[in-house]
Amino acid sequence: MLAEELVLKQRTKILHALCSSGSAEHLERVLDILLAQGALIWEDYQNIQVPGRTLYTNARQLLDLVYTKGVDTCGLFLHALKLVLPEAQAVGLSFSESCSNLEENDERQSTSNQTLLAQRPSLVHKLQGCVDGVLEALLDSGHFSSADCDEVRLPIYTPTQQARRLLDHVRSRGDLAASVLLQYIHQKQEPGFPLNQRELTPPKEFLKYQKKLSSSVSAQACFLSTYGGTSHMSLDDIYTDGELELAEVNAHGPLGLEDIVGLAGIVNEEADTVLVSGEAGSGKSTLLQRLHLLWARGLALQDFLLLFPFSCRRLNSEHNELSVQELLFQHCCWPDRNQEEIFQFILDHPHQILFTFDGLDELKQSFTDEHRVCCPTQRAPVHVLLFNLIQGSLMKGVQKVVTSRSEAVSPLLKKHLRKEVVLKGFSPAGIDCFVRKHHRDPTVAAKVLESMQANTALLGLCHSPVLCWIVSQCHKELLGCGEGSPKTITDVYLMILQHFLQHQSPLKSTMGLGWLQEHLKTVLLLGQLAFEGIRSTCYIFSGTDLEACGVTEKDICMVFLIKSKDMSSTHSKCYEFSHVTLQCFFAALFIVLSSNINRSVIPKLFELENMRETGLTRVCFGACLPSSDQQQQASEKESKAAETPNLQITAMFVSGLLSQRHQNLWLHCCPSAAVEKKARQVAKCLSKGIQKHFRSIPQPVQGEKKSMHAMPDFVWLIKCLYEMQESQIAKDAMSKLEVDHLKLTYCNIGPVECTALAYVLQHLRNPVGLQLDNNSVGDVGVEQLLPCMHICNSLYLRNNNITDEGIRKLIAKVIQCDSFQKIALFNNKLTDACMQDFSYLLKTKQVFISLRLGNNNITAEGAKQLAEGLKVNQTLAYLGLWGNRIGDAGTEALASSLEKSNSLVWLSLVGNGVGSAGACALANLIRKSTSLQELWLTENCITRTGVECLIQALKHNTYVTSVWLRNNDLSLEDVEEMKQLESRLIF
Ligand code: ADP
Repeated sequence: MLAEELVLKQRTKILHALCSSGSAEHLERVLDILLAQGALIWEDYQNIQVPGRTLYTNARQLLDLVYTKGVDTCGLFLHALKLVLPEAQAVGLSFSESCSNLEENDERQSTSNQTLLAQRPSLVHKLQGCVDGVLEALLDSGHFSSADCDEVRLPIYTPTQQARRLLDHVRSRGDLAASVLLQYIHQKQEPGFPLNQRELTPPKEFLKYQKKLSSSVSAQACFLSTYGGTSHMSLDDIYTDGELELAEVNAHGPLGLEDIVGLAGIVNEEADTVLVSGEAGSGKSTLLQRLHLLWARGLALQDFLLLFPFSCRRLNSEHNELSVQELLFQHCCWPDRNQEEIFQFILDHPHQILFTFDGLDELKQSFTDEHRVCCPTQRAPVHVLLFNLIQGSLMKGVQKVVTSRSEAVSPLLKKHLRKEVVLKGFSPAGIDCFVRKHHRDPTVAAKVLESMQANTALLGLCHSPVLCWIVSQCHKELLGCGEGSPKTITDVYLMILQHFLQHQSPLKSTMGLGWLQEHLKTVLLLGQLAFEGIRSTCYIFSGTDLEACGVTEKDICMVFLIKSKDMSSTHSKCYEFSHVTLQCFFAALFIVLSSNINRSVIPKLFELENMRETGLTRVCFGACLPSSDQQQQASEKESKAAETPNLQITAMFVSGLLSQRHQNLWLHCCPSAAVEKKARQVAKCLSKGIQKHFRSIPQPVQGEKKSMHAMPDFVWLIKCLYEMQESQIAKDAMSKLEVDHLKLTYCNIGPVECTALAYVLQHLRNPVGLQLDNNSVGDVGVEQLLPCMHICNSLYLRNNNITDEGIRKLIAKVIQCDSFQKIALFNNKLTDACMQDFSYLLKTKQVFISLRLGNNNITAEGAKQLAEGLKVNQTLAYLGLWGNRIGDAGTEALASSLEKSNSLVWLSLVGNGVGSAGACALANLIRKSTSLQELWLTENCITRTGVECLIQALKHNTYVTSVWLRNNDLSLEDVEEMKQLESRLIF
């Protein structure tokens, strides 16, 4: 099909793919490419990017234009789209095959301004992290005023948008300004990017080594290990983009894989280590694997000549002291000759070398910066080398990417980070894309997806890639099981256990035994191996370890244990669980099923205490455990932090397995009395744990509400309660919580945690404010929270990736909840499309007090819709719209709808492009209002005329206490004069 036809036929889909996320990033990246290619001229661009217009309108304008320009432009457009859209969003779109190559257009670059256009995509990338520097240079050279700088830095822009606004402004200032920018970038790149391939001529032996290393990395990375036992699933076939976010910076566009080592979000320029953090199973190892593969194939990270991948899990079993040189060559790839020369080249070119360390949390020792090693040829224990590499005292300048579970990252380690990137798992579109890749047959994929979507608890779980894989893998059971469909993580893992026990080795049952009973021996053996491993922070087992536990070949080919991949040839036959969470699950099974287990194991597990000195005789792990007692004590102390996350996951599975719902499973496998006793122990531990949290709540300061800020363990205990699925236990635990406000900010709360929270919180006796700011709740999480909305009087969900879709469901629920009065949604992905819902909320709920929607994507159109609700509402006291794009027209609509309000005391329209027309409309509101006290209009473009209107209005109003007007279009003289006229104006 011709490119033109493809554009026309797929118009709706393309619009959806470009705009449905609510972010303008994809559209802007397409525009960058088309400008660079000369497919669009500057005037076209200005006609498309009209400020204040909705994203969809801009995208439609682009589609119209591209279509009218003909087949070549359509081809380029489709190609650009393909480059820009994440895989998940590109599903279902076809791109023309015949489209031309996108190459940087050298011909047109005779002036600096032309270079800005031709290199726009790479400049946007390069400008990240140095926008401030360029602005300063432009200020110094007199090309920019401070108002220009402020405009570029507006907080509503993401870093890439700031870069584009900067380029747009520079263009309008002429060629000299453009050359200042280009010069700055050029200089900036020199120290960090000395790699100009032509200048650098590595020795021949080095190039051979590079080839050997990359083919070894490629061989290691091309298959996904979890699939090792079932089929060889190649990473290319299954890899699905996960959601990546910067940990420190709130406003930013979607991050791609290369942004991990890119300039975006650097918090410490001096540091070389980037941390990729995320929950167990969020896909950290897989992401590294993808990066390795792309590097080895020459498709990404090409600034690095060598990439050395390490697994901390494997480094645990290196007991010899090594030098960095030995570490690199022995653990990654051995040079055939000229080792010294190659190593010297590495030392001389640190900026072109990348190390990756997967699973720092699995290293036995916790990070410390006590032992210093600075010399790359000095030998030291491997963990000491690793810590020195991370700090940069060894191999300064070499970039290091480290992965770890978030909760295992100590503040000490954070001090040494260049930046932290959080891997959040799959987006809803990612789940869809993963399932379609996993099941090549589209009808099967559609069925699996349908069953997931019908069960929101299950869908919530699937945001975690490991659970998505398991759920997708067990689709037959899931589809067949009707009312028993899985609710908890334990349910899902039990399903995978049953699935593989029955399918991998179909022992034909002749005696009518249950599936567990039939395979009890294997489960216990693997369980003991897992349990011993968790107790001793051991995740890789040698053949001898397996023998000592009695694990046989037959048990090994069960998929739960897979052959451990190792770059070096020394540890050829080692095994590990196909995922660490599976090891925790088997350890939990052992705790539940074994009759040998010491009584103190469960209490110790829930107190997250070291369980080593329990009665069970240690039978294995000669290789993993230190020999002397003294060494053991030291290592126990060091490994405590690393163990905690796995102990928590194990405890969660123990809670789930001991739930009443699963008691039938254990019949005939172990004495019921023993299981019941263990279940009582768990219930007691959970209740004790929760009470301990409640006791730690400080008494409120007089006049303030009693508030509890949850410790991270609180979320874990709540998840354990959910796994148990016993409402009486949850009810008892919650009955003693008497607070007005429950704060769970920065607690890594995603959809799974929301399900557990709602399950437990619905048992509270009195309404609370629930504060979940800065988590990853998302639309699915919002849906999971609905069951506890009746007990919430306020909900704070700032910075949580929520879109209009989530809001629609939330509002449909909360309008039925009598106590619901306040909502804060600062920094989400809301657009005009959900303003009708808020309007309905305001119309329906005449007890509603506070609505805060700052830093979203609301324009004048949305404000007009909101105004419809405001006209009717008589209770709203706080309305916050900071950092949207309401403009004059929106402000006029809001102001006139609020004229009759007797309740509004606080209104913020900071940073909304409000001009004098808007200010005059607000002046009318001031004239009429008897309730408004504070009006925030900072960072707008109000001129003298607007302020004069406000002053006139204030003459008739004694209720307003302050009108904030900093950073508007006023001269210093204006400000001085106005201050004298009205003291309530604050400049
Ligand atoms: P983590 O290192 O965070 O514990 P893993 O990378 O081991 O998580 O992921 C666990 C499993 O989840 C993988 O083995 C794979 O089955 C699945 N998975 C994770 N990330 C992806 C991805 N991006 N695409 C496809 N599958 C993934």
